[in-house]
Amino acid sequence: MQLRLSEEERMIQKTIRDFARKDLAAVADQANLDAVFQDEIYRKLGELGFMGVTVPEEYGGVDLGTFCLTLALEEISMVCPATAIAVSVHNELANSIVLRYGSDAVKNKFLPAMASGRSIGVYAITETEAGSDVSAIRMSAVREGDEYILNGNKIFISTGDKAGVIIVVARTNADDRTGGLTAFLVEPNFPGFSIGKTEHKMGMKASTTVELVFEDCRVPAGNVLGSPGMGMKIALGALDGGRIGIASQALGIAQGAMDSAVLFARERSQFGQRIIDFQGTKWKIADMAVKLDAARLLVYRAARMKDAGEQCSKEASMAKLYATRIANEIAYESMQIHGGVGYTEEFRIERLFRDARVTEIYEGTSEIQRLVIAKKVIEEYEQAYPS
Ligand SMILES: Cc1cc2nc3c(=O)[nH]c(=O)nc-3n(C[C@H](O)[C@H](O)[C@H](O)COP(=O)(O)OP(=O)(O)OC[C@H]3O[C@@H](n4cnc5c(N)ncnc54)[C@H](O)[C@@H]3O)c2cc1C
Repeated sequence: MQLRLSEEERMIQKTIRDFARKDLAAVADQANLDAVFQDEIYRKLGELGFMGVTVPEEYGGVDLGTFCLTLALEEISMVCPATAIAVSVHNELANSIVLRYGSDAVKNKFLPAMASGRSIGVYAITETEAGSDVSAIRMSAVREGDEYILNGNKIFISTGDKAGVIIVVARTNADDRTGGLTAFLVEPNFPGFSIGKTEHKMGMKASTTVELVFEDCRVPAGNVLGSPGMGMKIALGALDGGRIGIASQALGIAQGAMDSAVLFARERSQFGQRIIDFQGTKWKIADMAVKLDAARLLVYRAARMKDAGEQCSKEASMAKLYATRIANEIAYESMQIHGGVGYTEEFRIERLFRDARVTEIYEGTSEIQRLVIAKKVIEEYEQAYPS
């Protein structure tokens, strides 16, 4: 498996790195303090091709694949993890679902605007009673002529208030818990759709998180993605890519936190010597470096497998489980190395520390990743050692 970057991948990495360290860094601190979504940043990311990374050129994308998206999310997250959420969900969940399951009419109508970043795609699964358990979705979708009528609420939807395209999973058959769900493409101007409560969160403040309200919301039957009853398969299937996206985000947070720690420890002196020269600090730095490398290998492997069209649910979950854990551990140790100033808004580590936490929760908690991994591992043992 190719873990080294090709020449083209290095160029892409440099492009997004330059953008993140200049344009994004210039606005990130204030955007997170004000909890404001940066429309202009997404417009620029669209111009650079990063809102259509996995979309074929015929629909206006750049078709570079998941590995290049991983590189982009890593660089963005070193500076502003909140910006990376929308980029990840838009590319790995919304774009990929429309591309795979949309009719030709739907793809032609929506993908060019999505791939250019003019229309942001969001993914709306979670409800009050349906978090980890997607099969508990209650939101109803009832067919009436050429339309479906949707009723119910989705909660915790990232960038829901900025969406041009909303992927919604609702219940079309009350008697079939898993086979009774259907995926729809909803536009925010459809009658009966509105934005509800905005969440006030611990971190990721420059990414809005909102409730979506559907009251007799009319959706054309042509906007069904896949076919009726495929909602669960679509929602969960897309999460392999989504989880590689969040793992890449965590990798960026971990790298950003480590960079801050090393640079700070080089400058700060106590007891007549630089903090970095204490053996205790060196051990912390060594542990950070090992964890970061191990996480990067897991994330890059999962991304390469996805690009090769291989089954990668286990590897995507492993990457997410490990990268999100070490992002929290490295952010913790980095703040420790900073001492008191690390706890203030003056230093980026304060924000990275808060932003890291949710990576272990969304797109499947760490406990759910363990269930996915264990299921696959046990299956592999069953095959290798049939009883
Ligand atoms: C900032 C943010 C952004 C989000 N963005 C989106 C979005 O864009 N779209 C969207 O649809 N959702 C989104 N979510 C929702 C997110 O995906 C859910 O919060 C997550 O899936 C967990 O669901 P829950 O919060 O209902 O927790 P629960 O499912 O109630 O879990 C609570 C606890 O129980 C544990 N648990 C649950 N089931 C099991 C089990 N079988 N075995 C062991 N432990 C278990 C969990 O691991 C967790 O520790 C977002 C959430 C946040 C915080």
